[in-house]
Amino acid sequence: MNLDPHYDIVIVGAGPCGSTAARYSAEDASVLLIDKKKTIGVPVQCAGFLPKYDELEELMPDAELPDTFRYPKSCVYTETKCQRFIAPTGDSKEFDVDADVLDRRRFDQYLAERAVSAGADLRIGTRVTAIDGKSIEIAGMWGSHTITADVIIGADGPSSIVAKAANLPGVEDDPMGVAHAIAYDMTGVEIDNGAIEMHFGRNFVPGGYAWIVPHGGTSANVGMGIRKAMCEPGVTFRDYLHRFIEEHPVASEKLRGGRVTSVIAGMVPVGGAPAKTCTGNVMIAGDAAGHLIATNGGGIPTAMVAGKIAGETAADVVNGRCAVDAYESRWRSEIGMQIKTSVYVRKLMDGMMRSDSMMTAVMNMVSPAHTKALQRGQLPDAVKRLLQGMQRRMR
Ligand SMILES: Cc1cc2nc3c(=O)[nH]c(=O)nc-3n(C[C@H](O)[C@H](O)[C@H](O)COP(=O)(O)OP(=O)(O)OC[C@H]3O[C@@H](n4cnc5c(N)ncnc54)[C@H](O)[C@@H]3O)c2cc1C
Repeated sequence: MNLDPHYDIVIVGAGPCGSTAARYSAEDASVLLIDKKKTIGVPVQCAGFLPKYDELEELMPDAELPDTFRYPKSCVYTETKCQRFIAPTGDSKEFDVDADVLDRRRFDQYLAERAVSAGADLRIGTRVTAIDGKSIEIAGMWGSHTITADVIIGADGPSSIVAKAANLPGVEDDPMGVAHAIAYDMTGVEIDNGAIEMHFGRNFVPGGYAWIVPHGGTSANVGMGIRKAMCEPGVTFRDYLHRFIEEHPVASEKLRGGRVTSVIAGMVPVGGAPAKTCTGNVMIAGDAAGHLIATNGGGIPTAMVAGKIAGETAADVVNGRCAVDAYESRWRSEIGMQIKTSVYVRKLMDGMMRSDSMMTAVMNMVSPAHTKALQRGQLPDAVKRLLQGMQRRMR
């Protein structure tokens, strides 16, 4: 149970990114994986939507997918076949996506087990409180200690202490680059279990979208990601969620009779990655580095790919095979384009989202195949011309 005073690599955060980083570094280096949570994956801060392996290959065609995407069925609540978009008018459009809806508690615990099986030390209930060069202060249910590491990976989410300590730009700095997500697990709802629904409309979800993610039977995760800067004064995120559940002309028919079994909230970095994600002996990855598809707020796939790259690079560094800054070019070549394009599209859509009629027009004009491409952080030329034209008309 005791920790070593020194590790080759310390990874802060045992979410999908950190545990994948640990799984890919621990066979080649001594690794400590730390999380402040007393139970890995709890509280949940996610709806759990994850496209299946074949879809992930198309989402990130230049990436080498980590084998942690091969998880057991016990991590899955249910499977869905399509993604449905509902415009402010109620018109809908859908495209096929084979996906799992994950039980993030089980999934995160499975990933941590993979890290330990690969040889990593795991310390839960322990917060990293300060970092100075190679020295790391930790405190929690097993006491307070100082340990040292040759390489530190910050996989500690959008409020990353690792990024702050290393003076790397934070993902929280741009107010339009952060969405606040609030969601309820609900039971007693009458939903389509084969589809993920995404609802748009500025009165219900300013600057974002509301989702209904089935959990099987009459249960679902119902939530929304909203930008504070686009909210009406005095209306809280919770007010918006209740308005959606109780008053939305389409969604309330399915949700009004439901009961809440769990409340979920968190921050979603939709501003893209900072210009620099590594320095000295530090790398940041996953949500900490804005590794997320900004058009839908999905961060599990990119966090895991970035975690693999960070873990492999860290092991290469401690074994003298490369320098820390190799990390920057490696992740940018594998997933950089999708993240960057998704932020560009999100910025174009921000303008449209200020007007329900404009948003509806865009949703009517973009084909299901192109909508799917936008969800994958791609921007087909025809859609680019359309969005830029509409943006000019709005000025
Ligand atoms: C409400 C909501 C719904 C979402 N739904 C989806 C979805 O359906 N599909 C999808 O792909 N993405 C979704 N996302 C985004 C997704 O959850 C994240 O992108 C993903 O979890 C990022 O993984 P990560 O490992 O980088 O960070 P995290 O999963 O946030 O893990 C970071 C870990 O670091 C730990 N930590 C933080 N600070 C410290 C510290 N100082 N010391 C020790 N430990 C620390 C935390 O306890 C945490 O376990 C959602 C996000 C929210 C908020």
